[in-house]
Amino acid sequence: MATTLHHWMNGATFEGSGGRFSDVTDPATGEVSAQLALAAPEDVDAVVGAAAAAFPGWRDTSLARRTQVLFAFRELLNARKGELAAIITSEHGKVLSDALGEVSRGQEVVEFACGMPHLVKGAFTENASTKVDVHSVRQPLGVVGIISPFNFPAMVPMWFFPIAIAAGNTVVLKPSEKVPTASLWMAQLWKEAGLPDGVFNVLNGDKVAVDGLLTHPDVASISFVGSTPIARYVYETGTSHGKRVQALGGAKNHMLVLPDADLDLAADQAVNAGYGSAGERCMAISAVLAVGTVADELVAKIKERTVGLRTGDGRRGCDMGPLVTAAARDRVSGYVDAGEAEGATLVVDGRTVQPDSDGAGFFVGPTLFDHVTPDMSIYTDEIFGPVLSVVRVDSYAEGVALINANPYGNGTAIFTNDGGAARQFQNEVNVGMIGINVPVPVPMAYYSFGGWKNSLFGDSHAHGVEGVHFFTRGKVITSRWLDPSHGGLNLGFPQND
Ligand code: NAD
Repeated sequence: MATTLHHWMNGATFEGSGGRFSDVTDPATGEVSAQLALAAPEDVDAVVGAAAAAFPGWRDTSLARRTQVLFAFRELLNARKGELAAIITSEHGKVLSDALGEVSRGQEVVEFACGMPHLVKGAFTENASTKVDVHSVRQPLGVVGIISPFNFPAMVPMWFFPIAIAAGNTVVLKPSEKVPTASLWMAQLWKEAGLPDGVFNVLNGDKVAVDGLLTHPDVASISFVGSTPIARYVYETGTSHGKRVQALGGAKNHMLVLPDADLDLAADQAVNAGYGSAGERCMAISAVLAVGTVADELVAKIKERTVGLRTGDGRRGCDMGPLVTAAARDRVSGYVDAGEAEGATLVVDGRTVQPDSDGAGFFVGPTLFDHVTPDMSIYTDEIFGPVLSVVRVDSYAEGVALINANPYGNGTAIFTNDGGAARQFQNEVNVGMIGINVPVPVPMAYYSFGGWKNSLFGDSHAHGVEGVHFFTRGKVITSRWLDPSHGGLNLGFPQND
């Protein structure tokens, strides 16, 4: 009997007005594990109202007290991360070790946010003019909305909410309807950590919930992560309603392999970055650009590693799990069909995989194409599955031109032992996150995460100092404590002396 999942408001489950539900599935077995309540507009109003009511009290809570709650959340998360990883695997499908890695990357942002007293320190200038002092402060925005994708049920929300909360905001998180339980679990953890009711809320739903947040007058900002068409829509709708918006979109990440690269390292990393989490990472490598003579040997080495991977239920110690839904599986195998029809060489066919699982999970095995050309749909589209395409290019310059012509600019990597080439690459390439012999160059929590071009709409990347700036706004105060010498009229702009 599937359970019903609801919203979280004011530190407790909130059933909402009911009426619409969607299925949550276990991708490794294909079974429906829960029914999820989808918010109606009045539910959006209720949850935003709760967050708005909690804001003044939380804003005025001392930084010392706020960070104590952050430290408590960090300790609970660290002690119980296995529970959260198991939830992620059961709804997303990624293997348990990868789910644990995801939680750890989110935890790093919590740890960064524990330093909020330092991060929001202002500046002070004594005697800017005679007996006039100037100082600056950064204050929270109010109610902030976070809308997250299915592929990192815990980490992506944690890119934002630890910083938002530590800075004094209250949060409404709208997780992906495919993977809602991680957010509800983290809401319960906040309660145990001592966060006041109403500061962290979870609103479950689909477009109705998203549109409600984008247009609600009491929502100050939106942090969105998902596909590019929705990111663009969220950015345009949110900003036209006066909100501060950061909207991170899709990706097509290239790995450029130069002739002097260590080909064993490059092959290992292409496989890790192409097939990890079944390719459902916005920083996954999907195109390997093999320069000059390396292609035959590189493809052979990638093939050798790919055929040895074990695909199956993420709880069974496999290398790779299923796709998130039946629709995702059908979409990915449709791309494999298209790649074959368009004339690419299918080196490893994941459609015929025999997964290690019970039931009817949503599996496509690791798939490798060679001789892919830039006009093929397997190259132009974000497949978001375990499909690696090798494109043969004649030169470094041809490779960089392809990367720069791509409409996305999330991540990219170069594999080489030539420091000069690597330095030139990091300078020339129009991408937000660059790896040098590192295939998935996700920045640490104290740097900021974000792509260029169609991979991010808005000015602020996630977490790091840019995250702190996104969730606060500046004020500058000019003050003078009166004494008799300050009397008299002067209608001109002051001349500082
Ligand atoms: P998605 O765009 O389908 O959904 C993201 C969120 O938007 C979900 O909460 C969903 O409920 C909501 N949504 C979906 N359709 C909507 C609509 N029509 N109107 C309003 N809201 C809508 O993305 P997804 O499939 O959950 O996630 C995969 C995508 O996310 C990939 O494109 C991936 O590259 C991208 N992603 C990007 C980053 C990054 O940092 N740039 C990180 C993770 C994932």
